[in-house]
Amino acid sequence: MTPADFIDRHPGELLGRLQQLVGVSTVNPPGENYAPITAWLVHELESLGLKTRRYAIPAALLRRHLPPEQHGYPRYNVFAKLAVPGAKRTIHFNAHYDVVPVSGQWKHGSPFSGAIERGWIFGRGTADMKGSIASLLLAVRALRAAKVAPKMNVEISFTADEETDSALGTGWLVQHAPIKPDYAVVMEGGEGRNVCCGHNGTLWLEVIVHGRAAHGSTPHKGVNALEQMAALVRAFDAYKRTLAARPWKTPEGKIHRPTVNLGGVFHCGEGAKINTVPAHASFTIDRRVLPLERHADAERELRAFLAAAARKIPRCKITVRKISENFPCFSEPTHPFFAAMAGCVTRARRQKARFSVSTGFNDMHFFSHHLKIPTLGYGPGGEDCHGVDERAKVQELLASAKIYADLLTSFAG
Ligand SMILES: [Zn+2]
Repeated sequence: MTPADFIDRHPGELLGRLQQLVGVSTVNPPGENYAPITAWLVHELESLGLKTRRYAIPAALLRRHLPPEQHGYPRYNVFAKLAVPGAKRTIHFNAHYDVVPVSGQWKHGSPFSGAIERGWIFGRGTADMKGSIASLLLAVRALRAAKVAPKMNVEISFTADEETDSALGTGWLVQHAPIKPDYAVVMEGGEGRNVCCGHNGTLWLEVIVHGRAAHGSTPHKGVNALEQMAALVRAFDAYKRTLAARPWKTPEGKIHRPTVNLGGVFHCGEGAKINTVPAHASFTIDRRVLPLERHADAERELRAFLAAAARKIPRCKITVRKISENFPCFSEPTHPFFAAMAGCVTRARRQKARFSVSTGFNDMHFFSHHLKIPTLGYGPGGEDCHGVDERAKVQELLASAKIYADLLTSFAG
């Protein structure tokens, strides 16, 4: 029996485990139930013969990185290793186990049901990305059942907090855990025939406009921060055109451009009253940085643009604060690792694989940008990630399991 045969004959193993994973609500923020889910994951990995350790993030780090209301929610990362005699290289598989909050009316009642209907499994995290965890666990189980050894040493990490900033998740793992990978597969970002070889970065800023308060009946005595913010926002029209004139062709031939989104969050400061000239206004900027751009240059350019735009508006004073950033990443898919994965995807799907670049970010940059190793994104994915009735397709979960098993047994590095 080949690993693929085993996978075909045991869909129930995959779905049962995925239902268990989905049933533990790991909603982040605030970061619920990380302790029970990581304990379960450790048990699963150990039962597959992997040397496994769960790392608890020290309390001092929690206090430094998390808002006060989350200090009571511990963070854990799970790291497992399988040393293969004679193997020269090491491949690392990564998935995050946290999920985004839930809202709305779900078809099967609870968002954590794991209900199966017409080839789909429903629940928060089925697509993003507990399905990937279940697929990988079945792939490793299939190798054991078929008594086929991987051609590389295997590392597996299941990490926290990807849905916030990954600082205590994969960001912590690559700095503190004893990982030594030559290649990494982050099990999201690419799906179907698409193998993801990079993603955009993000630069998130907040712009605060400082005006001067005055009575609403004598607006000329104040400086209206809202009106200044509006003028500043309008000035972005030209900047957006500048960005749009910088197309980049991805390996699959799609055109990506740097983008900017304004005011995902915007408000006015204290003392907001209808009969007061607003003294404070603020808005956010979400700048997406293409893999070919230099992150630092993108930030410098944006800050210079803001300063110049503010100078053109009479009495406009602003301060700019960085909320967070993620680095873009891209590996030219010419390395044999990418060809090997493309081969696995093509074989499993009987459809030629292609290389894509994701506009949204995931944890790939920690391996690709920080560790500088060939990194790809591939997983079962699904529909309505972050939405109501999030679901994953059973066929895709099984296909990913076969693709992971194939990669482990066909590529030696
Ligand atoms: Zn995700």
